Amino acid sequence: MRYITILGATGSIGASTLEVIKLHPDRYKVFAVTAYNQMDRLEQCCLAYNPTIAVVSTPQQARALSNILKSAGLDTEVLYGEEGLIAAASDSQADTVMAAIVGAAGLKPTLAAAKAGKRVLLANKEALVMSGKIFMDAVNSNQAKLLPIDSEHNAVFQSLPAHFDRASPLGVRRILLTASGGPFLNHSEDMLAEVTPDAAVRHPNWVMGRKISVDSASLMNKGLEVIEAHWLFGVPANKIEVIVHPQSIIHSLVEYIDGSVIAELGNPDMRVPIAHALGYPERLTSGADFLDLIRHGKLTFTSPDPNRFPCLNLAYAALNAGGSAPTALNAANEIAVAAFLENRLSFTSIPLLIEDVLDMVSCPEVSTIEEIIEVDAAARHAAMMFIDRATVH
Ligand code: NDP
Ligand code: MG
Repeated sequence: MRYITILGATGSIGASTLEVIKLHPDRYKVFAVTAYNQMDRLEQCCLAYNPTIAVVSTPQQARALSNILKSAGLDTEVLYGEEGLIAAASDSQADTVMAAIVGAAGLKPTLAAAKAGKRVLLANKEALVMSGKIFMDAVNSNQAKLLPIDSEHNAVFQSLPAHFDRASPLGVRRILLTASGGPFLNHSEDMLAEVTPDAAVRHPNWVMGRKISVDSASLMNKGLEVIEAHWLFGVPANKIEVIVHPQSIIHSLVEYIDGSVIAELGNPDMRVPIAHALGYPERLTSGADFLDLIRHGKLTFTSPDPNRFPCLNLAYAALNAGGSAPTALNAANEIAVAAFLENRLSFTSIPLLIEDVLDMVSCPEVSTIEEIIEVDAAARHAAMMFIDRATVH
């Protein structure tokens, strides 16, 4: 029996993880679940899975949930705040941690899971983008096992040889990450300037949380994924390419020096990579529909347009600049996306804000999490100043 902690159990990835686990009650037991705002959802989750630990954000929420669960006859321990998240992520009674909190809030708990030597199922790409080498060093020096949940990286993982060594990726010529292109793939620059948050979160192929949906629409999601692929697979930026593939059937590809290209295909359903990583190296049923290629008939591919979607190149530039530039890029993007979702910033101002922040903030080499958090805070501050200026004029 494997005991699983789900960080971000009330989110989209959290829900898909619970669905896969429900298919295999003989193999998996939910050890801990965490939430931030959605208390009703967390309560339902506790009643259904009877976890040992639940984590909420405030002491008031913790007291309320604890009372409800007690009167339902459960003895779930309810913790709160970042300390609660870290305790759940590193508890010795769990062997696997699904890291599915969105954004920088997931950094410390995900890192705690790596330091505790867990099997870390990584959905929270922002944590890796922010802390790159520090995170990978924590994985390697504590014998943690890192399994990618992001569909592209899971596809690359499946397309690499089983004995693949990140330190010397011999024989790999390029990694090709596919991008759906998002809901605005065919919008003109003028149309992009007018798009609303509601339109941005309506992704054509995937059902996801709001932040990653906006990132998919701006192609920043793909930019973050280029940085994620660099750290996961030890491949330099110039060997990672992005191809727009609107059907989202090929989830990514690895090209080898002999001309072979290996890819993973499937319906766009996150239960597939989740089941892969949960079961690895075994295979599990996921509940997803099987792929019907005849029905799809046609798979198409184009290059991303850097003029309409500048975020992708901003991410490449941050990766090439090195130091803590990816940390600043991620922080600026989180602030920009939150402001866009609140109608305080236009969609086309998102890359302008990020570029401005990267110009303003110093992004030195860093070697501790405290230094990462300093750069993150400076970039957030600069991003908020940009928004204030944009709102005043
Ligand atoms: P959601 O917004 O659906 O869920 C986010 C989860 O994080 C929720 O459980 C939420 O709690 C919790 N959360 C939010 N803010 C905080 C905080 N400050 N502290 C603690 N917990 C917090 O996002 P997704 O599930 O879509 O995405 C999760 C991660 O997985 C992201 O990093 C995303 O990039 C990545 N990912 C997602 C994919 C997808 O298909 N959805 C695909 C590939 C990667 P609550 O809801 O209770 O407020
Ligand atoms: Mg992805």
